[in-house]
Amino acid sequence: MNSEQQLFALFGNPVQHSLSPLMHNAVFDTLKLDARYIALRVENARDIIVHMRRMNITGASITIPHKTALMKYLDEFTDSSRRIGAVNTVVHSDGTMKGDNTDWIGLTCALRESLTITGKTFAILGAGGAARAVVFGILEEGGTSVIFNRTTRKGEMMAREFGCEFHPMEDIGKISADCLINTTPVGLSPDAERSTVSKDILPNFAWVMDIIYNPLKTKLLQDAEESGCSIISGLSMFVHQGAEQLKIWMNVQPPLDFMKKVILEKLRNEGS
Ligand code: NAP
Repeated sequence: MNSEQQLFALFGNPVQHSLSPLMHNAVFDTLKLDARYIALRVENARDIIVHMRRMNITGASITIPHKTALMKYLDEFTDSSRRIGAVNTVVHSDGTMKGDNTDWIGLTCALRESLTITGKTFAILGAGGAARAVVFGILEEGGTSVIFNRTTRKGEMMAREFGCEFHPMEDIGKISADCLINTTPVGLSPDAERSTVSKDILPNFAWVMDIIYNPLKTKLLQDAEESGCSIISGLSMFVHQGAEQLKIWMNVQPPLDFMKKVILEKLRNEGS
């Protein structure tokens, strides 16, 4: 790295499954930007700030499980990230760390490619950092969310915050909705044989989305397709959330089609 080069990083645990380094570095190369993007596994959210200061990292992506825990170490927030209560993006400028969230924009852009959000009901599996962005995005677009989570207390608290209904995860078979969205990591490669819900309940949903993008077609999406549902993979959300990060960090117009192609090629080569 030369002294002019800007450094960006993904922080999480685990990080080896992420295709963010591939996608962002491909954009830097194609747009001839003097920048690099690396992935760093960190145990504690606090270490993210330490690494960003020590390595002079200009911008960061935050992934599982630090999106909420990092907030108490940041200096400033955008309004949306404060309302979501989770950050997936950090901007480091003049010693100040500012948190932002682009997951909700990624989600709404991806959903809009398949359906109109306004007036629709969404059953959300999970109540973690990504779920918060998903529920926020759906509310912003005039949709309704019903939250289902393994840990009742966490799900109830989140539902109260966002003014939604909550049900324990095992009750997912008792409702029907326009769209089911999995925001848990269940089904993520290499545990690709797993799904949070049984196949027989999937006909209760016209659309099924999994925000996991690796594999492209998770077990949940395979089951949903076989059950006659329309399916939406996490790829488009991933590309859009990354594109928004590039706008925030570097004020560039991201090449969306190129970004999608880079990820698709990688996943297809891996047989995903
Ligand atoms: P998180 O904050 O750790 O939350 C995980 C949620 O999943 C929690 O509600 C947890 O339930 C639930 N969960 C975990 N393991 C479970 C299991 N075995 N059975 C049932 N529920 C389980 O993680 P996150 O940051 O929200 O990320 C979740 C996933 O979304 C990750 O796979 C991530 O890669 C993906 N993601 C994708 C995109 C994209 O752009 N496509 C963007 C963001 C995130 P408890 O409350 O009971 O622990």
